[in-house]
Amino acid sequence: MRKSYKTEINPTQEQIQKINKTIGTCRFIYNFYIAHNKELYNKGEKFMTAKSFSVWLNNEFLPNHPEYLWIKDVSSKSVKKSMENAYTAFSRFFKKQSRFPRFKKKNKSDVKMYFVKNNPKDCFCERHRINIPTLGWVKLKEKGYIPTTKQGYVIKSGTVSCKAGRYYVSVLIEIPDQNKPQLNDFGLGIDLGLKNFAVISNGITKKNINKTERIRKLEKQLKREQRCLSRKYEDLKKRNNKMKGEATRQNIQKQVLKVQKLHHRIDNIRTDHINKCVNEIVKTKPSYITIEDLNVKGMMKNRHLSKAVASQKFYEFRTKLEAKCKELGMELRIVDRWYPSSKLCHECGCIKRDLKLSDREYICECGYHADRDYNASLNLRDATSYKIA
Ligand SMILES: [Zn+2]
Repeated sequence: MRKSYKTEINPTQEQIQKINKTIGTCRFIYNFYIAHNKELYNKGEKFMTAKSFSVWLNNEFLPNHPEYLWIKDVSSKSVKKSMENAYTAFSRFFKKQSRFPRFKKKNKSDVKMYFVKNNPKDCFCERHRINIPTLGWVKLKEKGYIPTTKQGYVIKSGTVSCKAGRYYVSVLIEIPDQNKPQLNDFGLGIDLGLKNFAVISNGITKKNINKTERIRKLEKQLKREQRCLSRKYEDLKKRNNKMKGEATRQNIQKQVLKVQKLHHRIDNIRTDHINKCVNEIVKTKPSYITIEDLNVKGMMKNRHLSKAVASQKFYEFRTKLEAKCKELGMELRIVDRWYPSSKLCHECGCIKRDLKLSDREYICECGYHADRDYNASLNLRDATSYKIA
């Protein structure tokens, strides 16, 4: 099975230059291939495949046009790939599947830097960095998202792309089938919530990351910087003096960047938390996992809840959990959101209709008592009516 992963990278200035140069060269070659074939067509000559174009370029064109030798400065694999892409565009046109290939424009196109695994050291991926041919080690922004080489996953090929000043790597990974683990003979119920992020039926509780000191501090800092930014905007409005206005504008740009960076840092911490939760849950190798079908859309409409819900990334959690379950062969059960997981007594099965949101302890007349969310997670685990994701 092959699977692709895309994530943001944090290249150095030197690496950025290399990436930009490679993408620029690939765009040039793509366009050159199209232009050359147009010319051949107009002269009534034979169409050139990517392969014959490559031979012509190296043996005829470049020796006579040394001013274009900069083409050779970047990864030849990437340049070859752009010829193949242009060839594919032509074959689609010949098969009447798309229109005549268009030239790629700077900044507006999807040209990528292509790389492929050539020797064992290439494409090595660790939790926080990846070794890309011709670039070397590149830092990953989201740690541990791409499965690491040490875990036995092999990256076959990939691309580096740039969008709005950010850089991304996308890799294709071969996932061996024998990687599917032997599953245990038990299931897990997970109660997601706002107090704790998740309470799991095996007794483990995952904290709400937003209630940690680390996030609180960053949020406070963010508010401060945002206030500072709006003050600067106010300032700009009041100014008539052009010179001073320019200085303020630059100042604002700096402040915008500061705010964006903080947003990013907070977001990364939250995503990291989600990934850790998913990994820890599947690590126990249950044969199935049951969660409640969260009405995220409905909760987002509630003004008081929406921020708390969005910042906990429940949706992202579910998507990632679902992907992981598929990969490992676990069943992900989704229980209807009307299922009274909180109100049900796990011991005797009676329903406590007057259970309030503030009741943290579930106390039943039968003598059973448990933490409210833990009781819910047990009920989810044992639910008999569900759909499979
Ligand atoms: Zn009871």
